[in-house]
Amino acid sequence: MGCDISPLEGLLLLKQTDPEAIAAIRSTADKLRYTQAGDTVTYVINRNINFTNICEQHCSFCAFRRDDGDAGAYWLDWAQILEKSTDAVRRGATEICMQGGLNPQAQRNGKSLHYYLKLVETIKQEFPQIHLHAFSPQEVQFIARIDGLKYADVIVALRDAGVGSMPGTAAEVLDDEVRRILCPEKIDTATWLEIVSTAHKLGLPTTSTILSGHIETPEQQIGHLEKLRSLQQTAINQGYPARITEFIPLPFVGQEAPKSLRHRVGRDQPVLTDALLLTAVARIYLGNWIPNHQPSWVKLGLAGATEALVWGCNDIGGTLMEEHITTMAGALGGTCMEVETLQTAIASLGRPYQQRDTLYHRVKSS
Ligand code: SF4
Repeated sequence: MGCDISPLEGLLLLKQTDPEAIAAIRSTADKLRYTQAGDTVTYVINRNINFTNICEQHCSFCAFRRDDGDAGAYWLDWAQILEKSTDAVRRGATEICMQGGLNPQAQRNGKSLHYYLKLVETIKQEFPQIHLHAFSPQEVQFIARIDGLKYADVIVALRDAGVGSMPGTAAEVLDDEVRRILCPEKIDTATWLEIVSTAHKLGLPTTSTILSGHIETPEQQIGHLEKLRSLQQTAINQGYPARITEFIPLPFVGQEAPKSLRHRVGRDQPVLTDALLLTAVARIYLGNWIPNHQPSWVKLGLAGATEALVWGCNDIGGTLMEEHITTMAGALGGTCMEVETLQTAIASLGRPYQQRDTLYHRVKSS
Protein backbone atom coordinates (compact mmCIF):
# COMPACT_ATOMS: atom_id res chain seq x y z
CA MET A 1 0.00 0.00 0.00
CA GLY A 2 1.49 3.37 -1.02
CA CYS A 3 1.25 6.56 1.00
CA ASP A 4 -1.96 8.56 1.07
CA ILE A 5 -1.79 12.02 -0.44
CA SER A 6 -2.84 14.97 1.73
CA PRO A 7 -5.83 17.23 1.04
CA LEU A 8 -3.40 19.93 -0.13
CA GLU A 9 -1.72 17.54 -2.56
CA GLY A 10 -5.13 16.37 -3.78
CA LEU A 11 -6.13 19.96 -4.40
CA LEU A 12 -2.96 20.59 -6.36
CA LEU A 13 -3.81 17.64 -8.63
CA LEU A 14 -7.39 18.78 -9.14
CA LYS A 15 -6.25 22.27 -10.13
CA GLN A 16 -3.92 21.09 -12.89
CA THR A 17 -4.67 22.42 -16.37
CA ASP A 18 -1.41 21.53 -18.12
CA PRO A 19 -2.11 18.58 -20.49
CA GLU A 20 1.17 16.86 -19.55
CA ALA A 21 0.41 17.07 -15.85
CA ILE A 22 -3.10 15.75 -16.45
CA ALA A 23 -1.71 12.88 -18.53
CA ALA A 24 0.63 12.01 -15.63
CA ILE A 25 -2.31 12.06 -13.18
CA ARG A 26 -4.26 9.74 -15.48
CA SER A 27 -1.33 7.37 -15.82
CA THR A 28 -0.75 7.28 -12.03
CA ALA A 29 -4.44 6.59 -11.41
CA ASP A 30 -4.42 3.82 -14.01
CA LYS A 31 -1.34 2.19 -12.44
CA LEU A 32 -2.88 2.41 -8.97
CA ARG A 33 -6.09 0.90 -10.32
CA TYR A 34 -4.04 -2.02 -11.62
CA THR A 35 -2.22 -2.65 -8.33
CA GLN A 36 -5.24 -1.99 -6.08
CA ALA A 37 -8.00 -3.68 -8.07
CA GLY A 38 -6.39 -5.65 -10.90
CA ASP A 39 -6.92 -5.56 -14.63
CA THR A 40 -10.35 -7.23 -14.80
CA VAL A 41 -13.28 -4.86 -15.20
CA THR A 42 -16.37 -5.98 -13.32
CA TYR A 43 -20.07 -5.35 -13.84
CA VAL A 44 -23.25 -6.25 -12.00
CA ILE A 45 -26.61 -7.36 -13.38
CA ASN A 46 -29.07 -5.24 -11.48
CA ARG A 47 -32.37 -3.44 -11.74
CA ASN A 48 -33.41 -0.09 -10.37
CA ILE A 49 -36.81 0.20 -8.77
CA ASN A 50 -37.73 3.76 -7.85
CA PHE A 51 -40.98 3.03 -6.04
CA THR A 52 -42.30 6.61 -6.02
CA ASN A 53 -41.32 10.05 -7.24
CA ILE A 54 -43.62 11.83 -4.80
CA CYS A 55 -41.24 13.71 -2.53
CA GLU A 56 -41.59 16.28 0.22
CA GLN A 57 -38.24 17.86 -0.61
CA HIS A 58 -37.19 20.23 -3.39
CA CYS A 59 -33.52 19.66 -4.18
CA SER A 60 -32.41 22.26 -6.67
CA PHE A 61 -30.94 19.68 -9.11
CA CYS A 62 -33.88 17.25 -9.05
CA ALA A 63 -36.08 16.74 -12.10
CA PHE A 64 -37.47 13.46 -10.71
CA ARG A 65 -39.61 14.65 -7.80
CA ARG A 66 -43.31 15.44 -8.02
CA ASP A 67 -45.99 16.56 -5.62
CA ASP A 68 -48.86 14.15 -5.16
CA GLY A 69 -51.40 14.90 -7.90
CA ASP A 70 -48.87 16.49 -10.28
CA ALA A 71 -48.70 15.25 -13.86
CA GLY A 72 -46.17 12.43 -13.93
CA ALA A 73 -46.42 11.66 -10.21
CA TYR A 74 -46.39 7.91 -9.53
CA TRP A 75 -46.34 5.46 -6.67
CA LEU A 76 -45.91 1.77 -7.48
CA ASP A 77 -48.22 -0.73 -5.79
CA TRP A 78 -47.06 -4.09 -4.43
CA ALA A 79 -48.05 -5.96 -7.58
CA GLN A 80 -45.98 -3.60 -9.76
CA ILE A 81 -42.98 -3.98 -7.47
CA LEU A 82 -43.28 -7.74 -7.60
CA GLU A 83 -43.67 -7.68 -11.36
CA LYS A 84 -40.50 -5.61 -11.81
CA SER A 85 -38.61 -7.88 -9.40
CA THR A 86 -39.79 -11.00 -11.21
CA ASP A 87 -38.65 -9.52 -14.51
CA ALA A 88 -35.26 -8.61 -12.99
CA VAL A 89 -34.70 -12.14 -11.71
CA ARG A 90 -35.79 -13.63 -15.05
CA ARG A 91 -33.15 -11.45 -16.73
CA GLY A 92 -30.43 -12.70 -14.41
CA ALA A 93 -30.24 -9.85 -11.89
CA THR A 94 -28.38 -10.53 -8.67
CA GLU A 95 -29.29 -7.10 -7.27
CA ILE A 96 -32.28 -4.83 -6.98
CA CYS A 97 -31.41 -1.23 -6.19
CA MET A 98 -34.41 0.42 -4.58
CA GLN A 99 -34.73 4.09 -3.69
CA GLY A 100 -37.58 6.55 -3.88
CA GLY A 101 -38.89 10.00 -3.11
CA LEU A 102 -39.67 10.96 0.48
CA ASN A 103 -43.41 10.42 0.48
CA PRO A 104 -44.99 11.18 3.86
CA GLN A 105 -48.09 9.21 2.86
CA ALA A 106 -46.04 6.05 2.44
CA GLN A 107 -47.03 4.45 5.73
CA ARG A 108 -48.60 1.23 6.98
CA ASN A 109 -50.41 1.06 10.30
CA GLY A 110 -49.43 4.69 10.84
CA LYS A 111 -45.70 3.91 10.54
CA SER A 112 -43.26 4.85 7.83
CA LEU A 113 -40.92 2.00 8.81
CA HIS A 114 -43.71 -0.54 8.29
CA TYR A 115 -44.18 0.68 4.73
CA TYR A 116 -40.45 0.32 3.97
CA LEU A 117 -40.36 -3.13 5.61
CA LYS A 118 -43.27 -4.20 3.41
CA LEU A 119 -41.27 -3.06 0.35
CA VAL A 120 -38.39 -5.28 1.46
CA GLU A 121 -40.63 -8.24 2.33
CA THR A 122 -42.50 -8.04 -0.97
CA ILE A 123 -39.25 -8.72 -2.81
CA LYS A 124 -37.38 -10.92 -0.35
CA GLN A 125 -40.26 -13.34 0.36
CA GLU A 126 -40.46 -14.17 -3.31
CA PHE A 127 -36.76 -13.90 -4.13
CA PRO A 128 -34.67 -14.51 -1.00
CA GLN A 129 -31.52 -14.87 -3.11
CA ILE A 130 -31.66 -11.34 -4.56
CA HIS A 131 -29.40 -8.73 -2.97
CA LEU A 132 -31.39 -5.68 -1.98
CA HIS A 133 -29.29 -2.54 -2.22
CA ALA A 134 -31.76 -0.09 -0.79
CA PHE A 135 -32.61 3.17 0.94
CA SER A 136 -30.18 6.05 1.14
CA PRO A 137 -29.03 7.71 4.37
CA GLN A 138 -31.65 10.40 3.59
CA GLU A 139 -34.41 7.77 3.49
CA VAL A 140 -33.16 6.30 6.79
CA GLN A 141 -33.36 9.75 8.38
CA PHE A 142 -36.83 10.30 6.87
CA ILE A 143 -38.17 7.06 8.40
CA ALA A 144 -36.53 7.83 11.75
CA ARG A 145 -37.96 11.35 11.79
CA ILE A 146 -41.51 10.36 10.85
CA ASP A 147 -41.63 7.48 13.34
CA GLY A 148 -39.55 9.06 16.13
CA LEU A 149 -36.90 6.32 15.98
CA LYS A 150 -33.11 6.25 16.27
CA TYR A 151 -31.15 5.76 13.04
CA ALA A 152 -29.76 2.51 14.43
CA ASP A 153 -33.30 1.15 15.03
CA VAL A 154 -34.25 1.85 11.41
CA ILE A 155 -31.04 0.32 10.02
CA VAL A 156 -31.34 -2.82 12.17
CA ALA A 157 -35.00 -3.30 11.14
CA LEU A 158 -34.20 -2.90 7.44
CA ARG A 159 -31.13 -5.13 7.70
CA ASP A 160 -33.04 -7.84 9.55
CA ALA A 161 -35.86 -7.70 6.98
CA GLY A 162 -33.37 -8.40 4.18
CA VAL A 163 -31.69 -5.18 3.02
CA GLY A 164 -28.14 -6.22 2.07
CA SER A 165 -26.48 -2.84 1.60
CA MET A 166 -27.16 0.90 1.59
CA PRO A 167 -26.61 3.18 -1.41
CA GLY A 168 -24.24 6.00 -0.48
CA THR A 169 -26.44 8.47 -2.32
CA ALA A 170 -27.80 11.78 -0.99
CA ALA A 171 -24.16 12.62 -0.27
CA GLU A 172 -24.12 15.17 -3.14
CA VAL A 173 -21.17 17.19 -1.86
CA LEU A 174 -20.44 16.69 1.83
CA ASP A 175 -20.13 20.40 2.54
CA ASP A 176 -22.90 22.28 4.31
CA GLU A 177 -22.30 25.48 2.36
CA VAL A 178 -22.97 23.59 -0.90
CA ARG A 179 -25.86 21.64 0.62
CA ARG A 180 -27.62 24.83 1.71
CA ILE A 181 -27.93 25.78 -1.97
CA LEU A 182 -28.20 22.37 -3.60
CA CYS A 183 -30.44 20.50 -1.18
CA PRO A 184 -31.36 22.69 1.78
CA GLU A 185 -33.94 20.25 3.14
CA LYS A 186 -31.63 17.25 3.02
CA ILE A 187 -29.66 15.87 5.95
CA ASP A 188 -26.50 17.82 6.69
CA THR A 189 -22.96 16.49 6.26
CA ALA A 190 -22.61 15.30 9.86
CA THR A 191 -25.90 13.38 9.72
CA TRP A 192 -24.96 11.68 6.44
CA LEU A 193 -21.64 10.59 7.93
CA GLU A 194 -23.31 9.47 11.16
CA ILE A 195 -25.88 7.30 9.36
CA VAL A 196 -23.32 5.68 7.06
CA SER A 197 -20.94 4.99 9.95
CA THR A 198 -23.84 3.52 11.97
CA ALA A 199 -24.62 1.23 9.04
CA HIS A 200 -21.01 0.02 8.99
CA LYS A 201 -21.10 -0.57 12.75
CA LEU A 202 -24.30 -2.59 12.35
CA GLY A 203 -22.89 -4.72 9.55
CA LEU A 204 -24.56 -3.04 6.58
CA PRO A 205 -22.10 -2.21 3.77
CA THR A 206 -22.58 1.03 1.85
CA THR A 207 -21.40 2.57 -1.38
CA SER A 208 -20.14 6.15 -1.67
CA THR A 209 -20.79 8.87 -4.26
CA ILE A 210 -20.14 12.50 -5.11
CA LEU A 211 -22.40 14.70 -7.23
CA SER A 212 -19.80 16.82 -9.01
CA GLY A 213 -19.54 19.59 -11.57
CA HIS A 214 -22.10 22.17 -10.43
CA ILE A 215 -21.46 24.91 -7.88
CA GLU A 216 -18.79 23.18 -5.80
CA THR A 217 -15.13 24.24 -5.70
CA PRO A 218 -12.09 21.93 -5.96
CA GLU A 219 -11.53 22.57 -2.24
CA GLN A 220 -15.02 21.24 -1.51
CA GLN A 221 -14.46 18.22 -3.75
CA ILE A 222 -11.28 17.35 -1.87
CA GLY A 223 -13.05 17.96 1.45
CA HIS A 224 -15.64 15.44 0.31
CA LEU A 225 -13.00 12.81 -0.61
CA GLU A 226 -11.26 13.41 2.71
CA LYS A 227 -14.49 12.76 4.63
CA LEU A 228 -15.09 9.52 2.73
CA ARG A 229 -11.52 8.35 3.29
CA SER A 230 -11.69 9.04 6.96
CA LEU A 231 -15.11 7.34 7.23
CA GLN A 232 -13.63 4.23 5.66
CA GLN A 233 -10.52 4.42 7.84
CA THR A 234 -12.77 4.48 10.89
CA ALA A 235 -14.68 1.41 9.68
CA ILE A 236 -11.44 -0.48 9.03
CA ASN A 237 -9.45 0.67 12.05
CA GLN A 238 -12.35 0.10 14.45
CA GLY A 239 -13.01 -3.35 12.97
CA TYR A 240 -16.60 -2.60 12.02
CA PRO A 241 -18.24 -5.57 10.28
CA ALA A 242 -19.01 -3.55 7.12
CA ARG A 243 -17.50 -0.74 5.12
CA ILE A 244 -17.70 1.24 1.88
CA THR A 245 -17.65 -1.14 -1.09
CA GLU A 246 -17.11 1.35 -3.91
CA PHE A 247 -16.87 4.99 -4.95
CA ILE A 248 -19.02 6.38 -7.77
CA PRO A 249 -18.49 9.92 -9.08
CA LEU A 250 -21.78 11.24 -10.46
CA PRO A 251 -21.29 14.28 -12.73
CA PHE A 252 -24.18 16.76 -12.62
CA VAL A 253 -26.66 16.67 -15.51
CA GLY A 254 -28.60 19.92 -15.67
CA GLN A 255 -30.69 19.75 -18.81
CA GLU A 256 -34.02 19.35 -17.07
CA ALA A 257 -32.94 20.61 -13.65
CA PRO A 258 -34.95 23.42 -12.10
CA LYS A 259 -34.04 26.68 -13.86
CA SER A 260 -32.21 28.52 -11.11
CA LEU A 261 -29.50 25.90 -10.66
CA ARG A 262 -29.31 25.20 -14.39
CA HIS A 263 -28.64 28.88 -15.07
CA ARG A 264 -26.14 29.12 -12.27
CA VAL A 265 -24.15 26.13 -13.55
CA GLY A 266 -24.52 27.31 -17.14
CA ARG A 267 -24.45 24.00 -19.01
CA ASP A 268 -26.64 20.97 -19.49
CA GLN A 269 -24.28 18.02 -19.76
CA PRO A 270 -21.16 17.11 -17.76
CA VAL A 271 -17.75 18.26 -18.98
CA LEU A 272 -16.02 14.94 -19.63
CA THR A 273 -12.48 16.23 -19.03
CA ASP A 274 -13.45 17.58 -15.58
CA ALA A 275 -15.23 14.34 -14.69
CA LEU A 276 -12.21 12.27 -15.76
CA LEU A 277 -9.74 14.38 -13.80
CA LEU A 278 -11.86 14.02 -10.65
CA THR A 279 -12.13 10.27 -11.34
CA ALA A 280 -8.33 9.98 -11.48
CA VAL A 281 -7.74 12.13 -8.40
CA ALA A 282 -10.35 10.09 -6.48
CA ARG A 283 -8.46 6.88 -7.34
CA ILE A 284 -5.22 8.42 -6.09
CA TYR A 285 -6.90 9.86 -2.98
CA LEU A 286 -9.11 6.94 -1.96
CA GLY A 287 -7.68 3.86 -3.64
CA ASN A 288 -5.68 2.58 -0.64
CA TRP A 289 -8.93 2.46 1.33
CA ILE A 290 -11.70 2.07 -1.26
CA PRO A 291 -10.35 -0.10 -4.09
CA ASN A 292 -13.46 -0.23 -6.30
CA HIS A 293 -14.27 2.82 -8.44
CA GLN A 294 -17.17 2.98 -10.87
CA PRO A 295 -18.10 5.62 -13.46
CA SER A 296 -21.73 6.36 -14.30
CA TRP A 297 -22.61 5.41 -17.87
CA VAL A 298 -26.00 7.05 -17.34
CA LYS A 299 -24.31 10.43 -16.81
CA LEU A 300 -21.26 10.11 -19.08
CA GLY A 301 -22.65 7.87 -21.79
CA LEU A 302 -21.07 4.47 -22.41
CA ALA A 303 -18.13 5.98 -24.33
CA GLY A 304 -17.34 8.34 -21.43
CA ALA A 305 -17.68 5.54 -18.87
CA THR A 306 -15.39 3.30 -20.94
CA GLU A 307 -12.82 6.12 -21.08
CA ALA A 308 -13.06 6.39 -17.27
CA LEU A 309 -11.77 2.81 -17.06
CA VAL A 310 -8.33 4.14 -17.99
CA TRP A 311 -8.64 7.02 -15.51
CA GLY A 312 -8.77 4.83 -12.40
CA CYS A 313 -12.04 2.89 -12.58
CA ASN A 314 -12.16 -0.90 -12.34
CA ASP A 315 -15.92 -1.46 -12.60
CA ILE A 316 -18.45 -0.34 -15.18
CA GLY A 317 -21.53 -0.55 -12.99
CA GLY A 318 -24.81 -2.26 -13.63
CA THR A 319 -27.35 -3.00 -16.30
CA LEU A 320 -29.94 -0.99 -14.30
CA MET A 321 -32.79 -2.16 -16.60
CA GLU A 322 -34.64 1.08 -15.94
CA GLU A 323 -33.13 4.36 -14.87
CA HIS A 324 -35.43 7.29 -14.15
CA ILE A 325 -33.77 9.79 -11.87
CA THR A 326 -30.90 10.97 -14.06
CA THR A 327 -32.73 10.35 -17.31
CA MET A 328 -35.49 12.71 -16.16
CA ALA A 329 -32.72 15.24 -15.49
CA GLY A 330 -31.78 15.02 -19.18
CA ALA A 331 -28.94 12.49 -19.15
CA LEU A 332 -28.20 11.02 -22.54
CA GLY A 333 -26.54 7.76 -21.45
CA GLY A 334 -29.72 5.69 -21.69
CA THR A 335 -31.89 3.86 -19.20
CA CYS A 336 -30.59 0.31 -19.44
CA MET A 337 -27.61 -1.67 -20.73
CA GLU A 338 -27.41 -5.20 -22.05
CA VAL A 339 -24.68 -7.35 -20.53
CA GLU A 340 -23.14 -7.90 -23.98
CA THR A 341 -22.92 -4.12 -24.53
CA LEU A 342 -21.00 -3.67 -21.28
CA GLN A 343 -18.74 -6.61 -22.10
CA THR A 344 -18.01 -5.26 -25.59
CA ALA A 345 -17.14 -1.83 -24.15
CA ILE A 346 -14.71 -3.40 -21.67
CA ALA A 347 -13.18 -5.71 -24.31
CA SER A 348 -12.54 -2.69 -26.55
CA LEU A 349 -9.80 -1.72 -24.07
CA GLY A 350 -8.25 -5.19 -24.25
CA ARG A 351 -9.17 -5.84 -20.61
CA PRO A 352 -10.94 -8.95 -19.29
CA TYR A 353 -14.44 -8.66 -17.83
CA GLN A 354 -16.17 -10.45 -15.01
CA GLN A 355 -19.68 -10.40 -13.57
CA ARG A 356 -19.73 -9.60 -9.86
CA ASP A 357 -22.37 -9.32 -7.16
CA THR A 358 -23.11 -6.17 -5.18
CA LEU A 359 -20.32 -6.89 -2.68
CA TYR A 360 -17.74 -7.56 -5.42
CA HIS A 361 -17.78 -11.34 -5.19
CA ARG A 362 -17.24 -13.06 -8.51
CA VAL A 363 -20.42 -14.49 -10.07
CA LYS A 364 -19.91 -17.67 -12.08
CA SER A 365 -21.60 -17.44 -15.47
CA SER A 366 -24.45 -19.93 -15.79
S1 SF4 B 1 -33.15 14.37 -4.93
FE1 SF4 B 1 -34.39 12.90 -3.75
S2 SF4 B 1 -34.87 14.02 -1.85
FE2 SF4 B 1 -34.23 15.57 -3.35
S3 SF4 B 1 -36.15 16.26 -4.29
FE3 SF4 B 1 -35.32 14.62 -5.60
S4 SF4 B 1 -36.33 12.77 -4.89
FE4 SF4 B 1 -36.61 14.31 -3.29
